[in-house]
Amino acid sequence: MNAVRRRWRVGLTGGIGSGKSTVGGMLQDLGATLVDTDAIAHTITAAGGAAMPALRETFGDMVVGQDGALDRAQMRALVFANPDAKRRLEAILHPLIGHIAQQQAEAAPGVVVFDVPLLAESSAWRARCDRLLVVDCSVAVQIERVVARSGWAESQVRHVIAQQASRERRRAIADAMIHNEGLSLASLQSQVANLWQHWLGVPPPEPPPGL
Ligand code: ADP
Repeated sequence: MNAVRRRWRVGLTGGIGSGKSTVGGMLQDLGATLVDTDAIAHTITAAGGAAMPALRETFGDMVVGQDGALDRAQMRALVFANPDAKRRLEAILHPLIGHIAQQQAEAAPGVVVFDVPLLAESSAWRARCDRLLVVDCSVAVQIERVVARSGWAESQVRHVIAQQASRERRRAIADAMIHNEGLSLASLQSQVANLWQHWLGVPPPEPPPGL
């Protein structure tokens, strides 16, 4: 069988500003199909999205904006005020995201890269992947990049970082890690290309029964 036709599933994660999306784009350029779980989350919470009926039923009309999409500010306020709301929100979103991601992966011809910000937190997600790739850099560099990219205040970036898995926790799950700091985009690209060749050079493992 042609190695590129093998259905490798790579889980990609990294903290905000680590360069995860940049690496995802590079993997895509190398021929992978990128399944972006954040993009799926946005689609299902847009007007007419698959999650909207359950969100309205669970949290009421207040979480639905005038345009019919999820009112993220209201939802954030609810989650902030009531920890159980977060659990209920995730109970609606996560299975739908998992299902759609799986459908997208099944429709893909070759290597699938799941871009999953919460990979370190989710054993269910890790079980779907043959290999886990973590993009890492220091907090100082994360802040510098997100301030430059998105114009956020430093405190806002720190707040998001505090909500995410720690670097140690992500490192602990990694089969491979790219330390994306002090690297030009060209060097980053060549590390990604090396990794791609290395991983495709050997056959993917048999998936555990039932997956
Ligand atoms: P994430 O998806 O992890 O939040 P991005 O991939 O969007 O992060 O990267 C954050 C910003 O940093 C982007 O503007 C990206 O172009 C830039 N960036 C990432 N890695 C590098 C690098 N090695 N050299 C230069 N800029 C980089």
